[in-house]
Amino acid sequence: MTVIQSSQIAQLPVMGEAAQQSYPTATLYVVATPIGNVTDITLRALHLLALADVVACEDTRKTGALLTRFGLSKQMLAAHQHNEREVAEKLIERLRHGERVALVSDAGTPAVSDPGARIVDAVRAAGLNVVPLPGASAAVAAISASGLVNDRFHFVGFLPAKAKQRETELAALKPLAATLVIYEAPHRIVDCVEALAAVFEPARQVVFARELTKLFEEIHRCPLGEALAWVKADANRERGEFVVLVEGAAPDADAGDAEALRILDILLAECSVKQAASLAAQITGRKKNALYELALQRKRA
Ligand code: SAM
Repeated sequence: MTVIQSSQIAQLPVMGEAAQQSYPTATLYVVATPIGNVTDITLRALHLLALADVVACEDTRKTGALLTRFGLSKQMLAAHQHNEREVAEKLIERLRHGERVALVSDAGTPAVSDPGARIVDAVRAAGLNVVPLPGASAAVAAISASGLVNDRFHFVGFLPAKAKQRETELAALKPLAATLVIYEAPHRIVDCVEALAAVFEPARQVVFARELTKLFEEIHRCPLGEALAWVKADANRERGEFVVLVEGAAPDADAGDAEALRILDILLAECSVKQAASLAAQITGRKKNALYELALQRKRA
């Protein structure tokens, strides 16, 4: 067996292979960028960025600094939440002239709790080619290192900032059997954990994936009942970026999964709570009493 030293990796044939991939013109490339560690960029992304005629990005300073780290200098176009439609028109024009356009966000995968979806939608609607260049995303990195054993996850992204709306959303998520994936800003992490503790059972496992791929990366798993104490035990834990994972509901712990909830909501729009629970029980085979409780919660929300 040939043993390759890390110093030899730069000479591996795969480095050349990335250059030989097809990078068609007149195409929008949706390019994932690192979520912290600058070396978490794919070979294909690097080649495409080198070839791109223009890079659409959230913040030209941040993306400019990233490109500089890769030795690149590119024309950039600011594409943020408030101007995506206008930018899309400009990009469509450029794509029609045969350009290669890269779309990036500040970190991770565009259109995942980040701008980009409207641009992709408009470009696709114009009949133009869109190619994803996959790479880092905080949600997937957190799930992969969590050890939570579940084939399903439900991507929540950012919870509402307002307490009442957040509570309503969490109550609706409580019965889901899938792992919940929540993005949270550092200044709201305490509020987030308090809100989780008010709605979910204290025995549910939670995983904090903090500062992933960065110097102070920390991945901590504990029962929800111990989570607030963990966050407060170190002031640094209210800094940095977080993904919070919440273990899904135990299969028979509650009435609902996403499908039962969907059916219940449709029925609630037409029937009384009692009738909706009874019909939902017949359709889903789940317990009527549990569905009744759930229907009451949905009505109150
Ligand atoms: N598009 C990105 C992705 O693919 O993951 C997400 C962008 S969203 C605006 C930023 C949020 O992602 C942060 O508030 C945090 O919840 C999460 N995040 C981003 N980078 C992270 C990191 N290095 N460690 C932990 N969470 C991170």
